[in-house]
Amino acid sequence: MPEGHTIHRLAADHDLVFGGRPLRVSSPQGKFSDGAALVDGLVLESAEAHGKHLFLGFGPSGWVHIHLGLFGKYGFGDAPAPPATETVRLRLINDEAYADLRGPTTCALITDGEKQAIHDRLGPDPLRARDTGEKAWQRISKSRTTIAALLMDQKVIAGVGNVYRAEVLFRHGIDPYRLGKDLTRAEWDAVWADLVELMREGVRLGRIDTVRPEHTPEAMGRPPRVDDHGGEVYVYRRAHQPCHICGGEIRTAGLAARNLFWCPGCQKP
Ligand SMILES: [Zn+2]
Repeated sequence: MPEGHTIHRLAADHDLVFGGRPLRVSSPQGKFSDGAALVDGLVLESAEAHGKHLFLGFGPSGWVHIHLGLFGKYGFGDAPAPPATETVRLRLINDEAYADLRGPTTCALITDGEKQAIHDRLGPDPLRARDTGEKAWQRISKSRTTIAALLMDQKVIAGVGNVYRAEVLFRHGIDPYRLGKDLTRAEWDAVWADLVELMREGVRLGRIDTVRPEHTPEAMGRPPRVDDHGGEVYVYRRAHQPCHICGGEIRTAGLAARNLFWCPGCQKP
């Protein structure tokens, strides 16, 4: 599943490619035909992300709410668009470009009130300028759940996925099985600040890089990572390989329905 930086990048791409101009909106697959008809020909006024949710704003007509889920995919291209296949749930077109959305969990036209309800049930997002880690801390500091599970709970903090959770805990030497209530305020503030920085970098580069300058392949004289997720990381999908810092073996286990990766040498209980 894409992490929050991908969705924020998609919002920025929509603003850049389609923003401020009238747009043709359709649903070649038919599942979103009614919603598409209501915003077809209108101006895209804004595009916004919160965690893994994308919102395309069409003024008083409402918002197209998109959640990619596990299988959703977006493709952008230059106009003219090729004939749409039957798998395209949502197609956006202007004179210069088109975007096709396939296989999302959610693609629906919603009101301002419905959009607000989604914001209200999501935790703060490190990529939303107005959000702070405070609301997340209120929940984490009282929780008997592990910090690794809390970081994946979108009600606690929005947009963090499996890669950022593993990497940020490693970067701060925090055992993933530590309970929320056992984190210190200083640790949480440092984790939040780091997520803001790492995820902004993720939006900018379009991939997740989490190793510090002294641990890049060039600095360490090691071969670069080969993985279809791209990017240089400390622990994510590096099970049984040596830790870049202590040389110990990276471990893996299931937690909160996803595989967790950590270094027991660097992340002591
Ligand atoms: Zn280590």
